[in-house]
Amino acid sequence: MTDYDYLLIGHGIAGAVLARELRGRGHRVLVYDEPRPDTASRVAAGLMNPVAGKRFALTWRALETLPPAVAYYQALSQELGEEFFQNAPILKVFGSAQEQQQMLARAADDPWQGFVEKIETAPIARPGLLAPHGGAWLRGGGHLRVEALLAALAEGGRAAGWLREETFSWEHLVSDGTGVSYAPGQVRARHVVCCQGAGALAGPHFGWLPLTPNQGAVLDVAVPGLNAAQVLNRGAYVVPGVAAGQFRVGATYRWPPFAEVLGDVDQRELAGRLAGLTDLPFEVVGERRGVRPAVRDRRPLLGRHPTLPWLSLFGGFGSKGVSLAPRLAAQLADYLAGSGELWPDVNLARYYALYKGA
Ligand SMILES: Cc1cc2nc3c(=O)[nH]c(=O)nc-3n(C[C@H](O)[C@H](O)[C@H](O)COP(=O)(O)OP(=O)(O)OC[C@H]3O[C@@H](n4cnc5c(N)ncnc54)[C@H](O)[C@@H]3O)c2cc1C
Repeated sequence: MTDYDYLLIGHGIAGAVLARELRGRGHRVLVYDEPRPDTASRVAAGLMNPVAGKRFALTWRALETLPPAVAYYQALSQELGEEFFQNAPILKVFGSAQEQQQMLARAADDPWQGFVEKIETAPIARPGLLAPHGGAWLRGGGHLRVEALLAALAEGGRAAGWLREETFSWEHLVSDGTGVSYAPGQVRARHVVCCQGAGALAGPHFGWLPLTPNQGAVLDVAVPGLNAAQVLNRGAYVVPGVAAGQFRVGATYRWPPFAEVLGDVDQRELAGRLAGLTDLPFEVVGERRGVRPAVRDRRPLLGRHPTLPWLSLFGGFGSKGVSLAPRLAAQLADYLAGSGELWPDVNLARYYALYKGA
């Protein structure tokens, strides 16, 4: 048996960032990850957007989570010698004169804490861009090539031996007074952290939480002539650079029960939204689909299981895992070390009343 401090289940963006955080603190970490191609993290467009929705609201805790995430991915890119993160501006295109007026009215009390670079009220003239009512240029966000980053981190993990790309079977985990042992892997650990995304629901310990899987699709498109220096956002986002010469257009949201075949429906929906942003011809070159770990109150789920002190969860990231994971991984690492608290609105203890026992 080999001894570890932490056993992490899942190497999506949540598990990957948490593993790096814990390893950086000198802990012995082992990660299990089932190498499936269409996990939420692998299909995500990687967008980090400070202002979301038609109401132009600042995203939840943007000031506390976005700047650390940007710094984190920049430092990680430097460490790995490849640009995974682009600090690109986001152009939030106004869909109508009314939207433009709404944004201007909100600008009077500056609710965006510096995330808005400028607001254009005249039509924005750029090749192929449809923005007759102008738009707002956002800064402080950007986009991450999540799948490529995870592949690079996994390569390091395989080489160093801290990542095992195999399915973890919860039924073989046995706890004793001081931790757990997992016979199939010949390992012992003091802590186990479930980072399985929506897969946490299928395991034996977290099914009581109000996690609701939400299926989403993105399209990869080639749009010759469309400027790739910014992200476009209106109804859909159009993110450059996920692959050379291509854009990723997203995303759809579907609640269970999931239809078996949605390809055409999602394609039509996303292609229609793209056509609202550009009059250039485009070719669909791929479609990806994954399941988001969404939560009833739309806040992440972090912290300890109500009755199993060795077991924690790092999940519930919904549609925001990329921007939230770095700040919250540091918070969870502090909490598990006994040197910090979790924000009450992310602590899964807010749902302990739902737990009815094993
Ligand atoms: C279409 C789409 C577009 C999106 N776009 C964005 C975006 O632009 N920006 C953004 O911030 N977020 C986006 N999201 C949301 C984002 O993908 C999620 O918030 C995030 O990926 C969740 O990460 P996770 O690590 O918690 O879960 P996951 O990515 O699901 O990772 C869980 C991992 O656990 C592994 N696993 C599960 N069970 C086991 C087991 N028993 N043994 C071993 N391994 C196991 C899985 O194989 C997987 O690798 C998007 C999601 C979708 C579906």
